[in-house]
Amino acid sequence: MAINFYIELAYMLGAVGFVWGLRLLSSPDSARKGNLIAGVGMGLAIIAAMTMPIPGAANNYIWILSGLAIGGVIGTVTSHKVKMTAMPQLVSVFNGFGGACAVLLAIVEGERGLDTGLPIAGGQWSITLATLLIGGVTFTGSMLAYLKLDGRLGDNKLLLPRHQLVNQLFLLAAVVWGTMLFFKNETTSMTEVYAFTLLCLVYGASFVVPIGGADMPVVISLLNSFSGISAATAGIIYHNQFMLVGGILVGASGTILTVMMCKAMNRSLFNVLIGGFGGSSAAAGGKAGGDQTVKEVSLNDAAILLNYSKSVIFVPGYGLAVAQAQKVCKEIDDLLSENGVDVKYAIHPVAGRMPGHMNVLLAEADVPYPKLLDLDDSNNALSQADVAVIVGANDVVNPAAENDPSSPIYGMPVLQVWNAKHVIVLKRSMNAGYAGIENPLFFHAKNRMLFGDAKNTLSKLVVELKGL
Ligand code: NDP
Repeated sequence: MAINFYIELAYMLGAVGFVWGLRLLSSPDSARKGNLIAGVGMGLAIIAAMTMPIPGAANNYIWILSGLAIGGVIGTVTSHKVKMTAMPQLVSVFNGFGGACAVLLAIVEGERGLDTGLPIAGGQWSITLATLLIGGVTFTGSMLAYLKLDGRLGDNKLLLPRHQLVNQLFLLAAVVWGTMLFFKNETTSMTEVYAFTLLCLVYGASFVVPIGGADMPVVISLLNSFSGISAATAGIIYHNQFMLVGGILVGASGTILTVMMCKAMNRSLFNVLIGGFGGSSAAAGGKAGGDQTVKEVSLNDAAILLNYSKSVIFVPGYGLAVAQAQKVCKEIDDLLSENGVDVKYAIHPVAGRMPGHMNVLLAEADVPYPKLLDLDDSNNALSQADVAVIVGANDVVNPAAENDPSSPIYGMPVLQVWNAKHVIVLKRSMNAGYAGIENPLFFHAKNRMLFGDAKNTLSKLVVELKGL
């Protein structure tokens, strides 16, 4: 009795750790502490789960500790090795493993229930089947998203003709089959359970196949919420409140993020899921016209323009992350600020390759958080700014999203950098960004290109600025 009380108490403290950690994660200043507190909460819950007495059996500590040791080593090595640019892939793999765990738990519990030969309570059985469906979709969907984001699988590689119809049939089959198994209850065989799981796994991969390009962040976030929901349903199966609370927190935050990202792109979730735009193959739209030319600016002229401006707004994008140019960007910020220039950063919600990518990079370079403007504030500030400096961003500053109805990104809110008095774009070539479309901004009368690797170019700008 007493041990159960302490286990429940540890679960409750663990859940409080999660909520408190999540609260602290909302600001870059306290995020590290938040992560640590949530980790301590998780550790507490793991210890509590390991001490739980199992009626008529002994805890198999060798298996549990071996699993913890292997997982701990892989996690620690990965966290040290992973590049900032590969974080979305890592998140995707984490989501997938969460789904896979839920599937394994549901299979074990399902087998245990069916083994008794007695009817399984309707609620319990339906939750087990739902866990197989949601967890299975999360696992293979996330693995496919990982392969796509990591460039190991082209966006259209597995696309079938009328793929959306295929997906609808898969979903229908999963729901009908799941309902049949629900009514079969204790007469269901384990072979039927495995076959149902296989169908859910295949549907998960197929679900992600038609989605690609600029829509991937939304899918990752959606799969993140699915992984939370599957953990929560597994928590119900095990009567484990801690898993339930943790799963609900992940499910709810993933859902909120998904909705916010759809809003940032001005699209409905349905439109994203049926593959409305995006895809690295998207070549149409945003054409600048054959006779237009781009104009370049020299390092010296760029330095003079920045030095004698009143306000400068940096627009970071994926290229800043690739070049790891955040620290040298901050160095320029310091030099300009010492000179009385007002320096801000315009952050688009989907700049980079994961939500909050730019915020994390700039926080790492000690850029004060109040200097980071969200989309609306950025667009107000850009219309007053002397210079907008685009550092490795492309899709998020593409005017075709506002003025070209034929563009695949038409309707997506973008940073209106062309409203600043001058625009300087730092990138290596005229290559397209993630959505695979041309950007008319590069041909705009106000724009000047500064070609080269972002870190290299900004480092040379530092030298120029110091020499003025
Ligand atoms: P983009 O991918 O549109 O453009 C990045 C640009 O950076 C490229 O055009 C590239 O041009 C340039 N670049 C790459 N490396 C360097 C370098 N070393 N130095 C200088 N420039 C470099 O990035 P954005 O941030 O503007 O837009 C993000 C896109 O990614 C959106 O379409 C978004 O929907 C999508 N996405 C976002 C996710 C998220 O959650 N934030 C997740 C997945 C996708 P060049 O090769 O010529 O140098």
